[in-house]
Amino acid sequence: MERERLKRNLQAVRARIAQAAQRAGRDPAGVTLIAVTKSVDAATTQALIELGVGDIAENRQQSAAEKLPLVPALTGPQRPRLHFIGPLQRNKVKRVLEQFDVLHSVESVKLAAEVSKRALELGRMAAIFVQVNVAGEEQKGGFAPDGLAAALKEIVSLPGLRVLGLMCMAPYSDEPEAARPHFKRLAGLSLELLPPESRALSMGMSGDFEVAIEEGATHVRVGSALYE
Ligand SMILES: *Cc1c(COP(=O)(O)O)cnc(C)c1O
Repeated sequence: MERERLKRNLQAVRARIAQAAQRAGRDPAGVTLIAVTKSVDAATTQALIELGVGDIAENRQQSAAEKLPLVPALTGPQRPRLHFIGPLQRNKVKRVLEQFDVLHSVESVKLAAEVSKRALELGRMAAIFVQVNVAGEEQKGGFAPDGLAAALKEIVSLPGLRVLGLMCMAPYSDEPEAARPHFKRLAGLSLELLPPESRALSMGMSGDFEVAIEEGATHVRVGSALYE
């Protein structure tokens, strides 16, 4: 993708993040922009990092394993944090942990236990978000809000895990406001069920990140708005 256009799109997204934070009386520095690069090539990913993006996300282990070695900035001093945001299979956990810094899609206690075990083997802590299926959509992963309290009790007791907070995807809609009740719900669950150090909120995508920030998002995962 043409670099000037990418730069303009990035500036526009950053400006919208700052404005949404200001509307909510929040410090824009409290919102991390995660650039989702699943739909773009290694050159565009490299360009984003050169333009100052410090957080990159992919949703498939296999395609990330093929693409990311072709991104020179990932081994340099500007190395961004790498986020895994896709459905996570237990047999891929080891490889995902070796490749990525933060996992956003921990959606069962079994999976959390596997992440814990593999993190201990690797001798490090795994930073995770616990995914919540806020709208009860059949095709989406994540804990039902009703079962979340019990699940979190088990998850926070596992060694090797650092629970950063909760993650969700709002149901698809053309109308950003439609996402607001779901983001509110996630923020409420976080306040109710987690200690202050585990209250990061990974919510908001291209279509709804401003609403998510107004509702407390600390991490927005933005793809297509950067590439239009
Ligand atoms: C693709 C994806 C995004 C980014 O979506 P856009 O609409 O392109 O911004 C965010 N989160 C997850 C989990 C995704 O799979």
